[in-house]
Amino acid sequence: MINRERLATEFKNLAQIASPSYREGDISRYLIRRFQELGAEVVMDEAGTRIGAQSGNLLCTLSARGRSSEPILLSVHMDTVEPAEGVQPVLRDGIFTSAGDTVLGADDKAGIAEIIEALEALREQQIPHGPIEVVITVCEEVGLLGAKNLDPTRLRSRRGLALDTSGVDLVIHQAPCANKISFEILGRESHAGIAPEKGISAVQIAAKGIARMRLGRVDEETTANIGRISGGQAINIIPKRVQLEGEARSHDPEKLRQQTEHMIACFREAAAEAAGEIDGVLVEPQVRWEIVADYPVMKVPRDSALLGLIEEAAAVLERPLEVRAAGGGSDANILNGYGIETVILGTGMTDVHTTDESVSIEDMAGVAALLVEVLRRA
Ligand SMILES: [Zn+2]
Repeated sequence: MINRERLATEFKNLAQIASPSYREGDISRYLIRRFQELGAEVVMDEAGTRIGAQSGNLLCTLSARGRSSEPILLSVHMDTVEPAEGVQPVLRDGIFTSAGDTVLGADDKAGIAEIIEALEALREQQIPHGPIEVVITVCEEVGLLGAKNLDPTRLRSRRGLALDTSGVDLVIHQAPCANKISFEILGRESHAGIAPEKGISAVQIAAKGIARMRLGRVDEETTANIGRISGGQAINIIPKRVQLEGEARSHDPEKLRQQTEHMIACFREAAAEAAGEIDGVLVEPQVRWEIVADYPVMKVPRDSALLGLIEEAAAVLERPLEVRAAGGGSDANILNGYGIETVILGTGMTDVHTTDESVSIEDMAGVAALLVEVLRRA
């Protein structure tokens, strides 16, 4: 059913087009033409203008053919990490790698090639299917910017598959929500040798705050980290200002809220303890913070119709299917936040974000076959 040669050629074509985040212009033009050839109506949204990328997200719509059902969404991203210029895909023993000096870009071009091959197969074999929407985002690798700037009212689907994780026969149905948190601690400046009594060290407040903080793996659903710290001016000046950046993630939005508040409270308590009278005036160090909701939770129930659909498709192909949770956020989180119940499907890519990245034709063919079975049943 799957044409391995056509699939390999498609992947090679995609891999050869450099598409680092923000510079997706060339691949976007290629994809518009390719999806139009497949009979899709293709619209580019305005996300590119908003985030300063060469292209917006592509929204491709295929009408139903011979089957009436609710629409289903397939999602992939067209950008890659760097080094991405001049990718030369090398095929050896059925496995694609780069020539060694760039990434391969199988993340996420393996997923794009699999979708294209599945749509080719549907058309070639005149397999009836319901309406299909394909979203190809930009700037996924730099903070899910394309997905975050997508207008969800343009999509009709209420269920979807994002093709964007390593492994095959693997479905991710849960991923945490995350907050990015930046802190600023303001103490009081003074000469460290001549008048230390007149200073309040922001560095010391930061240290005491972190020391009392629950970080790392907080519980089985929650993690937290302080990842950057900077501040102070000179070794003989009691530091007035320290800036810190951290994050918290949890599979439970309530726990995320609690952990975020806990981190703020630790700094506030340390600051309150450092307050004192200087020259007869009470000086209270300040803590400022900013919370940015990075991505919402993804929690598709294990017994959902969507997972049942994928399991049924895998069973027909006699492929084992592993369903589990992941620790990071992706476009699928954003889509779930838009009310589109979305799981992530493994694309066969390995060693992503390195120059050792690879993907086998056999694995891509397996995923494409699974997609065909999903789409004909969707
Ligand atoms: Zn990816």
